[in-house]
Amino acid sequence: MKIQDLPCVPAGYVNTPLEPMPRLAKALGKTGGLYIKRDDMTGLALGGNKARKLNYIVRYALDNGYTALMTFGGVQTNHGRLTAAAAIRYGLKPILVLKGPKPDYLSGNLLLDRLMGADIHFVDTSAAGRLPKEEQAAASQAFLEKATAEITEFYETQGHKVLNIPVGGQTVIGSAGYVQAIPEIMEQMKAQNIRAKYLVAGYGSTGTFAGLWAGARYYNAPFEVIGIPIEPEYRPVQETADFINRLSEFFEMGFTCAAADLHLEFGQEPSLYCGTGYNEPDAVTQSYVELLARTEGIFTDPCYTGKVFHGFADLLQRDVISAEEGAIFLHTGGSPGLWSREHLDDMQKQYWSGGEKDHVWVRKM
Ligand SMILES: *Cc1c(COP(=O)(O)O)cnc(C)c1O
Repeated sequence: MKIQDLPCVPAGYVNTPLEPMPRLAKALGKTGGLYIKRDDMTGLALGGNKARKLNYIVRYALDNGYTALMTFGGVQTNHGRLTAAAAIRYGLKPILVLKGPKPDYLSGNLLLDRLMGADIHFVDTSAAGRLPKEEQAAASQAFLEKATAEITEFYETQGHKVLNIPVGGQTVIGSAGYVQAIPEIMEQMKAQNIRAKYLVAGYGSTGTFAGLWAGARYYNAPFEVIGIPIEPEYRPVQETADFINRLSEFFEMGFTCAAADLHLEFGQEPSLYCGTGYNEPDAVTQSYVELLARTEGIFTDPCYTGKVFHGFADLLQRDVISAEEGAIFLHTGGSPGLWSREHLDDMQKQYWSGGEKDHVWVRKM
C-alpha cells in the first residue's frame, strides 16, 4: 500500500508551526538558521508527537472493529495521556498499563489520565531487582506479558475487542504519521524560504525517528535526521534499521536501510544528552529546559524534550551542526512532566527556595 492512501482520523492537529528561534540563536552566539517544529502543539490533550501516530492508529482501530485502546508505558507516559484522549474522542475505552509502583501522590500526566477517566493498571516489577542482574529483564518482561494477558481477558469477558498498542505507539501504521510529517515540513520550508540541513529529534521507542528517517529518504528531504536517545538504555540501532525496512516494505517505498545509515548523537561525558536515567531529574537537562524557556518562552520537559534540546544546542555549540546551514529542533511535547511530583520537588530548590530567591519579591502591607 502507498502511504498516501493510508486513511487517518484528525485526532490531533497536523501542520504545526515551523518557527525561527532568533533569541536562542543570539544566546548561543549564532546568526539565524535555528528553527523549531512545534509538534507540542498537536492539540490532543495538551499535544505532543504521539498525536500524529494516533491519527493513523485510531483509524485502524475503528476500521477493524476494536472497542478499546490499551497501551503501555512508564507511570508518567505522555503516549498514554494522548492515547486515552484519542480513545475518548472516538468512543473507545481507554486502558493504560503502566510499569512501576502506584505513586502515593497524583500528578503530571497521571492526573490528566484519571481526569479523562482512563482505566489504569500498575504493573510493579520492582521485585525483579532482587534477582541476579542478568535475569532481571526477562523476569519483568514475563511478568508484564502475563499481566497483559490477564488484563486483556478481563476486558474481553466484558465484550470488548482490545487493540494492544505497544509502548510509544511504535507500529508501522503509527510511524506513518511521521513519514507524512516530512512533506509537511518541506512545504513549510519552501513557503517560508527556510534552508535546513539538519532535523534533530528524540529517539525513545523510535517510531518518530524511524518515520522521519524513512520520510526524509522517500521524499528526498534536504535535511538529515539526527536522533537523540533520551535514556541510557536506548533501543539498539539495528532494531530501528529493521523497523525502517519494515516501513519501507509495507508502504512500498523502495529503499533499504542499514544501521550504519542512522545518525544518533549522544553527547560527551560527563553530561550525556540522555541524562542520568529515564525520567530522572538532572541539573544539566534542567539548564536546557531553562535556556529555551528564557530565550523563546517555550517549555520543554525534563524527561524527553529537554534532553533532545540539550543535544540540539550542544551540537551547535560544538559545530557538529551549523546554524549557517540551518537546523530544526522537533519539539515533541511532554510539558505535563514539568508538573509530575518528582520534577516539581526537584525544581523547588532551584527556582523557589534556593539560588533565585532574589528574583521574587513580597511586599506585605
Ligand atoms: C514519546 C516521546 C518522545 C519519543 O518519541 P518515540 O517515537 O517514542 O521515539 C519524545 N518526546 C516526547 C515528549 C514523547 O512523549
